[in-house]
Amino acid sequence: MKTLRGLGVSAGVAVGPAHVIFPGHIKVTRTRIPPEEIEEEIRRLRQAMETTARNIRRAQERIPENMGEVRAIFEAQRFLVEDPSLVAEASEIIRQGFNAEWALLKVLRRYQKIFSELPDAYFRERFRDLEGLVEMIIGALRGEKPLGGPERAIIVARDLSPADTINLRPENTLAFVTEAGSRTSHTAIVARSLGIPAVVAAKGALEEISPGDLLAVDGTTGEIFVDPDPETIREFEQRERRFRKLQSRLHQVADLPAVTRDGRRVVLRANLDLPEEIPYAREYGAEGVGLFRTEYLYVAREDLPPEELLFETYRQVVEAVAPHPVTIRTLDLGGDKFASVLNLPREINPALGLRAIRLCLREEALFRTQLRAILRASAYGKVKIMFPMISGVTEFLRARNLVEEIKQELAQEGHPFDPEIPVGAMIEVPSAVAMADLLAKEADFFSIGTNDLIQYTLAIDRGNQEVSELYEPLHPAVLRFIWTTVEAAHRAGIPVAMCGEMAGELLYIPVLVGLDLDELSMPPQSIPEVKLFIRELSYRQCRQVVEKLLRLTCQDEVREALAEVFGPQLQRFSKSLWFE
Ligand code: PEP
Ligand code: MG
Repeated sequence: MKTLRGLGVSAGVAVGPAHVIFPGHIKVTRTRIPPEEIEEEIRRLRQAMETTARNIRRAQERIPENMGEVRAIFEAQRFLVEDPSLVAEASEIIRQGFNAEWALLKVLRRYQKIFSELPDAYFRERFRDLEGLVEMIIGALRGEKPLGGPERAIIVARDLSPADTINLRPENTLAFVTEAGSRTSHTAIVARSLGIPAVVAAKGALEEISPGDLLAVDGTTGEIFVDPDPETIREFEQRERRFRKLQSRLHQVADLPAVTRDGRRVVLRANLDLPEEIPYAREYGAEGVGLFRTEYLYVAREDLPPEELLFETYRQVVEAVAPHPVTIRTLDLGGDKFASVLNLPREINPALGLRAIRLCLREEALFRTQLRAILRASAYGKVKIMFPMISGVTEFLRARNLVEEIKQELAQEGHPFDPEIPVGAMIEVPSAVAMADLLAKEADFFSIGTNDLIQYTLAIDRGNQEVSELYEPLHPAVLRFIWTTVEAAHRAGIPVAMCGEMAGELLYIPVLVGLDLDELSMPPQSIPEVKLFIRELSYRQCRQVVEKLLRLTCQDEVREALAEVFGPQLQRFSKSLWFE
């Protein structure tokens, strides 16, 4: 048994076989094939390709109607596997006396070179489809079961792109293990939202884990056991039972309000990356959706989503969440959220580049389509619009004016919409904090995106594990920025929410309650726990502590001060969740 350690970013445990995704270095050995066996080797290749084509067709049939982007990925792979040139090129290499696996890899390398030289980012990115396909064929040659089949597996990869994560079907994914990533990387966020245990930043995972190895993964502690012994498996069964017990206890509180002992009410809402997560939001007692990320409709598709598709999707979400509100965040592409369809230029510093609201204001037609769809959906429930990456007042007003223009357009066309739709700004760029007092006069609400606010405030790349230890939500600079934002909002009489990952962490809850946030939005699974904890807190005490924290010099002092006041209570609380 081998033990690996990473960062547990999505709670839960899983025991199951590994499905390893090798990025660009699929491991195969080169074997010489004697001339008399060459035809047989080609037949073996053809058979494996037929099996793969069949598996892709079956997987395609099982994809729900509303997941058109995923269907598109499978469609592309099916096209490639049925294309005669792949088998022809591989057969040619087999005829030179090599095994089928090696031949496929050689063909793949040839294409890698061609793809990497393509000027269009979208087509360069399509190499991933081919790579995934070759992996499937090699799997079939080895007699492995495909991931898309009924078999359930733990996904082991270097990293997963947003498209990969959507592509992997949640019901077949027991857990994620990735070598790269951090608490706020896309894999972590999606895993938490879907309730799939995940360990990221697991160094050496691809070296130590082979396809099919039995793994035991704990998404809370970050432990990974390769080939676990019977004792470890028994222990994992126990961990699993304990986790289930905890979950069921948490469900029981779904309908209680989040209110401190001395009467301070905090609204708890859910973050959604995909509409499929709505049932979780309801089940865990979210009072609506505080952040609906809309990027998924744009990634992994070859064309821009039409207005009708966007409208239908938003309408479904709004109706499913009613009578609670849904805050729809406009497109936040660029940076770590890559969209091949837009053919974005490669940037040296994408986090500081053409992303989010900047991109939308540049590509106005694209933005208008999305705004029209959101406004039209607002006729079916309570909708709020939120702009990401706002850096100042002018930028916010430009976006807001566009909403006004579109309202007039829709009114003329006879489309119903909510004329009072609230329009808010995400506060995730330091310059927006500096301008918060003036911005608060123009916006109907604020929502603090700490994932980015911490990144830009501390100059720490949120996805870079080399500096992940420096990514510190409790840095006094971050706390001061949050406080400045809240004060400005409240002075202007507008509410302020937080929708970054910080809002769903127990340790930070007393701080956020003391910082006077009106609303916290988080992965649905975190809601019950946060709610129970808030019900044990005293707002007065949280305020007093925060006043002290805002005067401290460094994060270590903040952590110490917090541990001193809330440490024992937090420990008691966590224990009570596990054992009562
Ligand atoms: C954030 O930055 O905190 C946020 C909520 O948005 P995202 O993680 O999608 O950038
Ligand atoms: Mg952000």
